[in-house]
Amino acid sequence: MSDKDDDSKKGFPDPEEISKRLSDFLKSSFGENVSFTTMMDSANSFTGPTQEEPSGENHDLREEPQAKIHDFDLIPRQIKAHLDRFVIQQDEAKKALAIAVCDHYNHAKYLRRLAKEDPDKAASIEFAKQNVIIVGPTGVGKTYLVKHIAELIGVPFVKADATKFSETGYVGADVDDLVRELLRKADGDLELAEHGIIYIDEIDKIASAGNSMGRDVSGRGVQTTLLKLMEETEVPMRNPQDIQSQMQAMMEMSKGRNSGRDTINTRHILFIVSGAFSGLEQIVEKRLRQGAIGFGAAGSDDTNSISLHESVGTQDFIEFGFEAEFIGRLPVRVVCDHLEAADLFDIMKYSEGSLIRQYEREFESFGIQARFTDEALEEISERAAKEKTGARGLVTVCERLLRNFKFELPGTTVTELSIDEEVAEDPEKVLQRLIEESNSVGDTRIVSEIAAFRRKFEEEHGVKLTFESEAVSRLAELAEERNQSVLQLCEELFHDYQFGLKLIQKNTGQQSFPITTAAIERPDKYLSGLVVASYRDDSEQ
Ligand code: ADP
Repeated sequence: MSDKDDDSKKGFPDPEEISKRLSDFLKSSFGENVSFTTMMDSANSFTGPTQEEPSGENHDLREEPQAKIHDFDLIPRQIKAHLDRFVIQQDEAKKALAIAVCDHYNHAKYLRRLAKEDPDKAASIEFAKQNVIIVGPTGVGKTYLVKHIAELIGVPFVKADATKFSETGYVGADVDDLVRELLRKADGDLELAEHGIIYIDEIDKIASAGNSMGRDVSGRGVQTTLLKLMEETEVPMRNPQDIQSQMQAMMEMSKGRNSGRDTINTRHILFIVSGAFSGLEQIVEKRLRQGAIGFGAAGSDDTNSISLHESVGTQDFIEFGFEAEFIGRLPVRVVCDHLEAADLFDIMKYSEGSLIRQYEREFESFGIQARFTDEALEEISERAAKEKTGARGLVTVCERLLRNFKFELPGTTVTELSIDEEVAEDPEKVLQRLIEESNSVGDTRIVSEIAAFRRKFEEEHGVKLTFESEAVSRLAELAEERNQSVLQLCEELFHDYQFGLKLIQKNTGQQSFPITTAAIERPDKYLSGLVVASYRDDSEQ
């Protein structure tokens, strides 16, 4: 091993030499006007430290880059449980993926251990990689599943569309770029990149033209190229067409990382491909029907109930237009189901990555507390289901519904927005009413500060405050008169409010309390009025 390292080190030029070659290359490509000096300077600044500051999108990967794959000890059930937090339905897909991923990373771990003890044996071990093919319509969570698996395991993840490869003349080069992209995502950490996940969508579009389902004549060529990657190959870290990747590789070299290697091995990269495969169901049906007739079955009119999950096989993918070798490299078959309106409802209500929370956060940043009622969520999911784009339909529907609210409400005294049935049915009417009832504050900082106060109050005391529009305007005036921030003013005016409000809560079960102009003018009087009323309510019951 050390011999090999030495050799590769000998064969690889030093940073200065690389700089010279790059400089020559740039000049020959773009003429004398192109300078390389500044780039090299910035590259030099990387030479010293071996540990760099983690930052940016791959933060987690950099903190303990390979530790997670070295210590991989997840079991399928744990992976599924993690996916359940984000992905609604698709249980079979979750299970199959969880198993495939465990097998894959356990095997890599086993080989690493073996390589230390008996390198020859490790090199000779045969293993059928658990690459996965996912069949399923758009927007049902295929990418989402893969992304969350990669995050959980702590490996880089790259996604591309297969159609991209067939459109370009440099098919091979593009496919290799996926592997280089893994290295970039792993922040140049070769070992991590070599255990990454490459996810290729729209794979059905590269079924060969020999089949009526196939659309692309060059599909077969792309299949062959991908096949090589899926087996095992060495991909150069640098793409001669791409200056940026040459720079990246050079920086890695100058940092002394990756033992002087200049290729990425694809042996342990997990490949997951997917597509809608429209027409596949009919192929499966046809085969089953023929099979049934062949075995002398009386009738086969129950083909409607065939389940792709159980029935789809290698033969069907070949019939669809894939090469047998290609499909043979994708032994794990997974089917993702259509999402019904009820599933879309669950996605909004229960998925940790729910779109609803994204909307709530977006409104919150304008100081507006937005809440969706279940009735509104039902209506939104019904409409989204009609879009036939899976969960993506939710974004379309919500966007249409809420765009004007997002435009009109920031900068007014509206601090709360209940997205209910009425909003779903007639958004414009509700918006007009809110606008009429509200005042302009001109400065979103005022509502944001009120939101911050309200949030803190609720977190600390479990009591919710709602600010009436007039009260917000009055607070803004008063804060200006007293030369105070609205937040300071709220803290001052309502600083002991929790005691009284909790008492009322105990008496009446009331969860949310309105702050009116009266509360701002005479906070103590207002609160004692509420407390007294709560005893009265109590005794009346
Ligand atoms: P595709 O199946 O086309 O790859 P995606 O996984 O990209 O679809 O889904 C788009 C978005 O829709 C995701 O980012 C996620 O927010 C949401 N989504 C889709 N399916 C699900 C699901 N089953 N559970 C939760 N969210 C989902």
